[in-house]
Amino acid sequence: MTDDAPVLLVTGGSRGIGAAICLAAAQHGWAVAVNYASSEEAAEAVVGTIRDAGGKAIAIAGDVGKAEDIKSVFAKIDAHFGRIDGLVNNAGIVDAMQRLDEMTPERIDRMFRINITGSMLAAAEAVRRMSTRHGGKGGVIINVSSMAATLGGGGQYVDYAASKGAIDTFTVGLAREVAAESIRVNAVRPGIIDTDIHAAAGLPDRARDIAPQLPMKRAGTSDEVADAVLYLLSPHASYITGALLDVSGGR
Ligand code: NAP
Repeated sequence: MTDDAPVLLVTGGSRGIGAAICLAAAQHGWAVAVNYASSEEAAEAVVGTIRDAGGKAIAIAGDVGKAEDIKSVFAKIDAHFGRIDGLVNNAGIVDAMQRLDEMTPERIDRMFRINITGSMLAAAEAVRRMSTRHGGKGGVIINVSSMAATLGGGGQYVDYAASKGAIDTFTVGLAREVAAESIRVNAVRPGIIDTDIHAAAGLPDRARDIAPQLPMKRAGTSDEVADAVLYLLSPHASYITGALLDVSGGR
């Protein structure tokens, strides 16, 4: 790895899809800032794997649901790497399956604060550093949306689905806003991916249970989402911005 390796921040990089993105990005020559909210040990394990393979990585604690934490994550990247070239807004939550008329205002507020406000504030920090308008060298932003944005999550979690719908709209709008400033902005929309997130909805076996109903008769893997993200991060996607790439096995 060279000293001038491009630097990528992956929010929620400690587990699941985010961890797979961190590992794949390091293999493709990125220095990686592995953000996490509480899973310090898991984040340090991702960092250790990258360093053992000769790559560069640091773990940075920070709750993307808190504006001050996002500022401090970027300040730590400034201090440690002195540059940032890419952001993957991956951190996201679901909640217990509920109808809208059962949800509390606090639940809906938390869902939007972490899933959409956090992504927008992190992207704003990235644009301030990467945009040629601000003296930066350009860069790339990937937002992790969900097929729930198109399916609506009815009877399961319409708040989650709505927050991902907002991610899609934000992706298209920001892409156009910064297209002439050497920043590309795209999203991936995973379908059912086998990670721990389903346990938070009360369905730890969801990926296995729903497999027979999926077009490919299986859930996807975090690595399959990471491959799509790495493509969008790469120069192979140099004329792609504002795109929403479904990684859903046809779901
Ligand atoms: P996961 O296994 O639950 O991992 C979530 C990651 O996000 C963890 O690293 C977690 O770190 C971090 N995180 C959670 N809240 C955070 C916060 N407030 N601030 C910073 N980090 C936070 O989830 P996943 O399945 O990999 O999901 C990753 C993304 O893919 C999410 O945006 C999700 O909506 C999206 N997605 C997933 C699926 C799926 O089927 N799995 C489908 C469509 C979209 P800590 O452990 O430290 O909290």
